[in-house]
Amino acid sequence: MVDANGRSVGRSMRILVTGGAGFVGSHLCERLLADGHEVIALDDFSTGSPANVAHLMRSRRFWLVERDVAQPFDYEIDRVYNLASPASPARYQCDPVRTTITNVVGTLNALSCAERHGARLLQASTSEVYGDPEVHPQPEGYLGRVNPIGVRACYDEGKRCAESLVMDFHRQGRASGRIARIFNTYGPRMALDDGRAVSNFIVQALRGEELTVYGSGSQTRSFCYVDDLVEGCVRLMEHPVEVGPVNLGNPVEVTVLELAQEIVRLTGSASRIVYRPLPEDDPRQRRPAIELARRSLGFEPRVALRQGLYATIQSFRAALLGAGECPRRGEPALAG
Ligand code: NAD
Ligand code: UDP
Repeated sequence: MVDANGRSVGRSMRILVTGGAGFVGSHLCERLLADGHEVIALDDFSTGSPANVAHLMRSRRFWLVERDVAQPFDYEIDRVYNLASPASPARYQCDPVRTTITNVVGTLNALSCAERHGARLLQASTSEVYGDPEVHPQPEGYLGRVNPIGVRACYDEGKRCAESLVMDFHRQGRASGRIARIFNTYGPRMALDDGRAVSNFIVQALRGEELTVYGSGSQTRSFCYVDDLVEGCVRLMEHPVEVGPVNLGNPVEVTVLELAQEIVRLTGSASRIVYRPLPEDDPRQRRPAIELARRSLGFEPRVALRQGLYATIQSFRAALLGAGECPRRGEPALAG
């Protein structure tokens, strides 16, 4: 295994990753196995898929279990990464009560499991705890502006409650906690149909369909490549004292329209950009202040947006081909 600075140290651990068959979870499982650990991925496959971890099944140090995190579970483990939760607004709003239950009861179950085995838990929290922010960029000390009765509240308030559970278990000495506030993350193995901006735009561009920008496209996000995020999560988990919350993300901010234009360019697509109504409570701006992550974890995002998008486009193209589609083959240069 490695320490918080990426140096190889001591013992191999047994690590539970809830939501391990999801987009981020599958990359995290891959990384933890590469570091020499035993990994149990727990997932109900509601937004993830066994296909995301099929390549890990060959390892004798990897187990995939189909379970709902909201039902009690028990594994003898040293670490828990609690990622089980839908992440895309379209997905988490489909069954909002279940989203709240997954985040609140699921986190309680994960903490109880950690408590029984003296394990440490890292909670995958989110920039959504800041809501539609008046403070920009968002530092960890900003308490947020969440609409508690809005359509995004099932996720935002579910994650906020999960943070409070982690802190209470930690303060009471019941389970050591870590909180990562994850900002928009993208990369290979995002579900093609999950409705997020990056996946929608790439699929639309590769299929030669119109790219659907919601509102005027002037709202901003800051997109982090998944490898950078996983590095930050591992560093936070293994940090001896930093509990967080710590923002993890890439502070390079773009408008949604700029993202769509970049994807059209990188795919070489002839697709047009069209405008659709802005969803309710859609945050107007989002950019992480990452000074704490830099100072405390030595965290620094390495993958530029264009480079990360290019890798993601290649993987989406392969996935569409695998599904029997013939995505557009435009191959513009990455440089320039
Ligand atoms: P994802 O939807 O690909 O992965 C979530 C995984 O959790 C899926 O495999 C899903 O099947 C599983 N899951 C959902 N409900 C479950 C339940 N009740 N029991 C067991 N498994 C369940 O999403 P992701 O982007 O990989 O997000 C992973 C985590 O990171 C989530 O907790 C999300 O809130 C957080 N996060 C992600 C982002 C991002 O931009 N990707 C940003 C902020 C926070
Ligand atoms: N968005 C868009 N078109 C899409 C999907 C999303 O314009 O097809 C916008 C969405 O309204 C938001 C931004 O892109 O302003 C990021 O959306 P996403 O669902 O990826 O994540 P969010 O940050 O909203 O959770």
